[in-house]
Amino acid sequence: MHDLVIRGGTIVDGTGAPRFEGDVAVDAGRIAAVGRVESRGRRELDARHRLVTPGFVDVHTHYDGQVTWDPELAPSSWHGVTTLVMGNCGVGFAPVRPGQEDFLIELMEGVEDIPGTALHEGIDWRWESFPEYLDAVGAMPRALDVAAQVPHCAVRAYVLGERAHDLEVSAAEIAEMARLTRDALRAGALGFSTSRTILHRSRHGLVPGTHSKPEELLGIGAALGEAGHGVFEMVSDLQGQEPDLSWMRAFCEATGRALTFALAQTPFAPTAWRDTLGRVEALAVQGLRIVPQVPCRPTGMLFGLQSTLHPFVLHPTWRRELAEHPHAARVARLRAPELRARLLAEEPATRDPIARALVSNWPRIFPLGDPPDYEPPEERSVAATAARDGRRPEEVAYDWLLERDGTALLFAPLANYVDCDFEAIRAMMLHPSTVLGLSDGGAHCGLICDASMPTYLLTHWARDRARGPRIPLEQAVRLQTANTAAVWGLGDRGTLEPGKRADLNVVDLDALRLRAPEMVHDLPAGGRRLVQRAEGYGATVVAGEVTFEDGERTGALPGRLVRGPRAC
Ligand SMILES: [Zn+2]
Repeated sequence: MHDLVIRGGTIVDGTGAPRFEGDVAVDAGRIAAVGRVESRGRRELDARHRLVTPGFVDVHTHYDGQVTWDPELAPSSWHGVTTLVMGNCGVGFAPVRPGQEDFLIELMEGVEDIPGTALHEGIDWRWESFPEYLDAVGAMPRALDVAAQVPHCAVRAYVLGERAHDLEVSAAEIAEMARLTRDALRAGALGFSTSRTILHRSRHGLVPGTHSKPEELLGIGAALGEAGHGVFEMVSDLQGQEPDLSWMRAFCEATGRALTFALAQTPFAPTAWRDTLGRVEALAVQGLRIVPQVPCRPTGMLFGLQSTLHPFVLHPTWRRELAEHPHAARVARLRAPELRARLLAEEPATRDPIARALVSNWPRIFPLGDPPDYEPPEERSVAATAARDGRRPEEVAYDWLLERDGTALLFAPLANYVDCDFEAIRAMMLHPSTVLGLSDGGAHCGLICDASMPTYLLTHWARDRARGPRIPLEQAVRLQTANTAAVWGLGDRGTLEPGKRADLNVVDLDALRLRAPEMVHDLPAGGRRLVQRAEGYGATVVAGEVTFEDGERTGALPGRLVRGPRAC
């Protein structure tokens, strides 16, 4: 008798091997057998006509605050994610000196658009050091496993205090930052993260460490070599180009550890990603693990009347008469012809050319629709529609925003959509050196909701894509399971093989649907966030326990903190 048998499914085991019909037996939270299982289970799940996959491993999230109050960690847990990694992009909440809590919240709010009021109310700060933070996270049972990385901004604030933003740091200070990082890794952190992009700002300006010198990064990075595990994660405007590449390479040579950085196709250098992949491939031959991290769709801003940004958010009439009103009242007023005419006669009241460009890049703003379309053809853009109808783009956007009772969303891809299709993304995803990531689960609450990427990988890439080649199902699953797990050293999970953790999904692929994202106000202090649901997950299993069944939480909380191996 097994604890659990998942019976008669189509097994896509995460290794990339061809699918096959079979059963999965589970004992004591681990997979006991895969194939034909004769003995019964104390519990049996009927998986006939359904896929059985490993649980998804999402390595790029920002649940660092939410993880301390919320055992569900939606939306990621709604999308088959059974292990997530947080502490990305240099921001997080440990280590923290008493009195610095607000500063770390401001950084998270500025960079990741997570409401500061929600973080204030939600976090109870029962820690100072990173190991104490891990203990606090580890003390709470939850629906899925979580793992943490040490954020550079917090380490800098801890060591440098008021000078957290300074470029100049002493050798002793670097040594202290390295010591804190080493202690965190030895306590179980899975890596260290930093931000080197001018897009990441708080009310204090660029985040601490944005322009840190190579000696600081290499000095802290040495801690990963000494600890013998951990990933160096980074978001950088240089995207792996010089002068970053020299120290990235030196880091890998000195420590033998992997370094991952966000890679995207940008409008400014639309082919640079190809050069980067070529360079990374050449370094891989020498055994250096530089791993571009790529998403499975563009990082898309979602403009809606409840979002942080939309094409009219900077207009004087919006700011004066609508911004502070409840959603329903705004929608009613926007429907009035007088207000419509007045708003459409105005311009965004900003001198900031970036802000202006962001909200009025009409050739790259599309209706998202329901079901959502993340790969819309160019002719469906606001610009193309306006040209066809002989209207101004502003009029088209205005009317679209009022659809679905004013909850319609416009999709404004930030990068990876230069050619208005996904061919660049596909090439990046399928490159042997890359890893899937950048869902930013738990973050960008007012503008982006990409925690649904694991579901999208199956619906769009493995099943629906019509505007170019699809990705074979076996390969798509491997990218979100064995591949992500391997880069972060999570070798105990990611495939359906005897001895591995019994984390898995039972999926009705024919019925799998992504719903349109929606704005809800369920964070602490009534904070808002975009969430996105899915239909078609029959069951999600974590450590052998069913956590979701037909899309509903079962109440089981088998998820734990995953600690990296302690150095011996
Ligand atoms: Zn991030």
